[in-house]
Amino acid sequence: MQHLRTILARQGIFFVLTVLGLIAINAAWLVPTLTNTRVSASVFALTVAERIQSEINDSLENALNDTVEVAQEVSDEPQRTTTAFRNLLRHHAIFTSVALFSRSGKELIGVDRSGSVGPEKFVDQSRNASFYLALQGTPAFSPPFISSNGEPYATLTIPVPKTGLLFDQVIIVELNVQNLLSIIRSPNIGQGHAYVLDRDGIQILHPDLAKIIQRQNFSSRPIVTKVLVDGVIADGLAPDDEYINEDGKDTFTVGMPIPVVKWGVFVEQPRAQALAGERQTVAIAVGTSLLAIIIFLVIARSTIKLQQLTEEQTRLLLENDQSAKMLVRRDMELSGANTRLLEIDKTKSEFVSVAAHQLRTPLTALRWSYHALLDGDMGPLTEDQRKIMRDGLHATLQMITLINDLLNVARIEEGRFGFTFTLQPLEPIIAASIPRFEKIARDKAVTLVFQPTPATLPLLLLDAEKISIVIDNLLDNALKYTTPGGTVTLRVTNGKTKVGIEVKDTGIGIPKDQLHRIFNKFFRASNAMLLQTSGNGIGLYVAKNIVETHGGDMFVESVEGKGSIFSFMLPVKERS
Ligand code: ADP
Repeated sequence: MQHLRTILARQGIFFVLTVLGLIAINAAWLVPTLTNTRVSASVFALTVAERIQSEINDSLENALNDTVEVAQEVSDEPQRTTTAFRNLLRHHAIFTSVALFSRSGKELIGVDRSGSVGPEKFVDQSRNASFYLALQGTPAFSPPFISSNGEPYATLTIPVPKTGLLFDQVIIVELNVQNLLSIIRSPNIGQGHAYVLDRDGIQILHPDLAKIIQRQNFSSRPIVTKVLVDGVIADGLAPDDEYINEDGKDTFTVGMPIPVVKWGVFVEQPRAQALAGERQTVAIAVGTSLLAIIIFLVIARSTIKLQQLTEEQTRLLLENDQSAKMLVRRDMELSGANTRLLEIDKTKSEFVSVAAHQLRTPLTALRWSYHALLDGDMGPLTEDQRKIMRDGLHATLQMITLINDLLNVARIEEGRFGFTFTLQPLEPIIAASIPRFEKIARDKAVTLVFQPTPATLPLLLLDAEKISIVIDNLLDNALKYTTPGGTVTLRVTNGKTKVGIEVKDTGIGIPKDQLHRIFNKFFRASNAMLLQTSGNGIGLYVAKNIVETHGGDMFVESVEGKGSIFSFMLPVKERS
């Protein structure tokens, strides 16, 4: 429905023109075709009627003419009457008997098919209309009647010529009209049939004998008047030729007079059957029109769809073009910004590097000064003085560590951290690290456990100095973030392709929501900052970088308040 509305909205004028065109084309062939259909039906029915009419007419005309001849013979030679009658019966198979009647209606001579001459008997014919007509000099056929043996008969009444005005004698021939019945029964008219009405409009012949017996009068039908009274042919095309028959059916009927008896033959068909072609033609016209409209709608719909798609495509192309231009612009802006950032970052690294170098020299001097003082090189110190010197030394060492860390970061980022890989065992590196933290652990009352390696470890391609930075950082953090009474355990994990070190503690742990940022440069967890003010968030960043440069991985598992496990794995595969 939506589509139909769109089509009508967009193609309204074309749609109307198409429909009008279709109506015009259909009308151009439909009207003559329909007329032809009716004319063909009429021609067919008239052909049937004409054949029936001529057969009945010929048959009755022969009977009439021959009997008129015999009447003349009887008039000329009355003594030959019986012979003439016998000859007549011989020539006409449909005649069953011939009789001569006197004016008063008395049978004078009668001959039947058995050849016997009937006894003189009085058969009163005076009330018979045909008999009366014959006495006026007019031959006449009586309407058929059904005899006791069930066969239809009719009589032919012929006046015997006589000089003078009156006719004294009449010949009455009885004829079996069964053959007339077979004439009207013979044509195949589908559901239709032929019937014959006599001059008064009474149905005298019908394929159904019962109808003949009923002797229905159809004189009120206009078509009957046309044929019987006006004596013209009714072709069924005039509107008043139509009628509803005795069975209530709408009919298509043609009629034709039978001149010799002034009867009429009618060929009646159900209208629907006779004009079936008409309905088929209309159905074809409507069908083709609908088909054409549907095709039009389908084509129009596809055209609109295509238009919409093309518009959409153009719009998208335009948008795409704009987006592409915008992307190019953004890309240029971004690469510009990136270049600037890289430059700034480089400047920053250079600054950090320079500043750190500059700071390290005086700090180193300061450290040696504190050592010299504490060692008593300048004379003995009081306990208070020693404490101040120790604090100063501690702060200086922290600063040196920070400077070293910053320098390491700068080196990593500038790609000049300087690794030297050698195939060597891992154990000595661990063994060297542990003692550095034993005192710190003792001071802090934290138990430091080193679980012995279960089996001999394979040699690894290592930079020992860098790996010891990693181990130191992990041990340092574990002790730093574990409160007194806790435990820090270091163990080596030995796999087929990897060797790992795991540092486990029972410390403060790391909040879950910050765990993913733990290896980020300068990141410190919130709980760590509360516990430990010293710390710069650089150690893990450097450690991870070192492990990854060795081709390994670094991991963390931690539960806040319970403890953490930091571990790293190094590949066993030897470097070529
Ligand atoms: P920092 O100098 O702060 O220790 P690191 O890079 O070594 O720097 O560590 C970064 C942060 O990771 C620490 O500040 C701390 O929040 C957290 N952290 C590292 N090791 C542990 C640990 N064993 N237990 C709890 N938190 C840890």
